[in-house]
Amino acid sequence: MTEKMWGSEPFWGLDYDWDPDWVLTDRQKELRETLIGLCETEMRANAKRSDDELLYPRRNFELLAENGFLSLTVPEEYGGLGQNHVGFAMVCETLARYGCASTAMCYVMHIGAVATIMLRPTDALVDKYIRPLNEEVRIGTLSYSDPETGSHFWYPVSSNAQKSNGGYKVNKKASWTTSGGFADFYVVQTTSPDFSGYDDLSVFVIDGDDVQAQPSLWDALGLRGNQSGPIQVEDIEIPDDQVVGPLGDGANSNDEAVDPWFLVGSSSVWNGITLGAIDIAKRHTTRKKHVDVGMRVADYPTIQDYVGEAVMDTNACRVFVYSVAQAMDKATDDNTRVLKPGETARADYLHWAWQIKFEAAKNTAHHVDKMLHACGGSGYKKDMELERYVRDAKAGWVMGPTNEVLRQFVGKAVLNGFDSLDYWNQTYNRRVVENEVKKLDSTAKRELAEQLVEQADKAEGTEPAKA
Ligand SMILES: Cc1cc2nc3c(=O)[nH]c(=O)nc-3n(C[C@H](O)[C@H](O)[C@H](O)COP(=O)(O)OP(=O)(O)OC[C@H]3O[C@@H](n4cnc5c(N)ncnc54)[C@H](O)[C@@H]3O)c2cc1C
Repeated sequence: MTEKMWGSEPFWGLDYDWDPDWVLTDRQKELRETLIGLCETEMRANAKRSDDELLYPRRNFELLAENGFLSLTVPEEYGGLGQNHVGFAMVCETLARYGCASTAMCYVMHIGAVATIMLRPTDALVDKYIRPLNEEVRIGTLSYSDPETGSHFWYPVSSNAQKSNGGYKVNKKASWTTSGGFADFYVVQTTSPDFSGYDDLSVFVIDGDDVQAQPSLWDALGLRGNQSGPIQVEDIEIPDDQVVGPLGDGANSNDEAVDPWFLVGSSSVWNGITLGAIDIAKRHTTRKKHVDVGMRVADYPTIQDYVGEAVMDTNACRVFVYSVAQAMDKATDDNTRVLKPGETARADYLHWAWQIKFEAAKNTAHHVDKMLHACGGSGYKKDMELERYVRDAKAGWVMGPTNEVLRQFVGKAVLNGFDSLDYWNQTYNRRVVENEVKKLDSTAKRELAEQLVEQADKAEGTEPAKA
């Protein structure tokens, strides 16, 4: 096995013995070498500036673009590197581990946007948004979260689109958007023009010039360079070729592109952050000596236990991510299949993608703390960089779909079936209603009945006639 290098020196963290390299192709290993090199020469130093100064990592995107990474998953015929889901997971993990976690998260959203467009590629979309990615350093992002519905990003109540002048007039409010104010194009989801309920969603691409953002308002615990502030698109007219897929394709697009790519990529970022923290802990604990007992910190069994458990738990999370990525590669012929609307491939593994994100986010929150404990007070100081990894890691749990939501999804789906998830409030839970009504006395029951009759009368006039 070749030695892992950091510039002209052997790498000071964990070597290749601890990377599950059997999942990578030779080409993917080459791409990883290139990335580690870029991290060593510049990206890691830029991570510190992004963190200190809340600086958007544009320079790191320029470095990625110079090496073709902005179109990593795009087919070679459109100028891309033609990589699959495993390749994407490797790139996100590598960036977060050796370079800059903020860049890695912006990159996840960028490829999420690119992959959402490529789910329904048209000549117009490919020519305008995909072909110029590297040459013009064009950065994309996904803008889904709505201020009114929090982490339920599939529920865009503050957004809408209407047909207008042969194209669409789009309104979008998003409470969080990575790269907000810095991206060149935003893939957004709104309710469909002929809105028939919140499961009727459509996807549009909006140019950066049409997006209002106030990046100066962004300040956060970690991932400080990712600039995930609110954005607004107000009555913006776009041509009809900036819709992605047919109208009403939003739910399909979520399940087949946005969620799978985001969950594989972001889980890899959380794993990369944990590995980066373990690397730093190895460097520090093997170098620091206690003269009184003549031992290095790494010689204490307690420290060995911390590191051993962190490596095993994190490698379990990594192999889990790579395995789900492999399943998606298999279902899409290595990301080469163009799916028709309604046809599924990645979506069949969505419930696996929920699990990889939950585990990776839980794992990083726990083990970055353990690496801090292993390094002692030295780890608490800025110069060792560990404290940045600790803060960056904490975004994992709260980023939507949050870990509370994910464990509910999985537990509920296992116990009550997938239909019980009821994303758009369409299934009536008779048990809960009947139980609550039981608690009312006769007067309250009558009041409720009158209220319901009044609501039914009003609704009758607006409901579509039943066949
Ligand atoms: C660094 C960062 C970058 C981000 N980038 C983007 C981006 O690029 N694009 C984008 O669209 N969004 C992005 N987001 C937003 C993210 O996806 C979530 O929407 C956001 O973190 C939710 O925050 P909130 O305060 O609205 O949480 P809330 O939704 O209000 O949640 C508050 C609490 O309630 C819990 N909760 C919510 N719903 C349920 C439920 N059904 N069951 C049980 N518990 C529940 C949550 O888990 C949490 O504990 C980003 C977030 C972060 C932190």
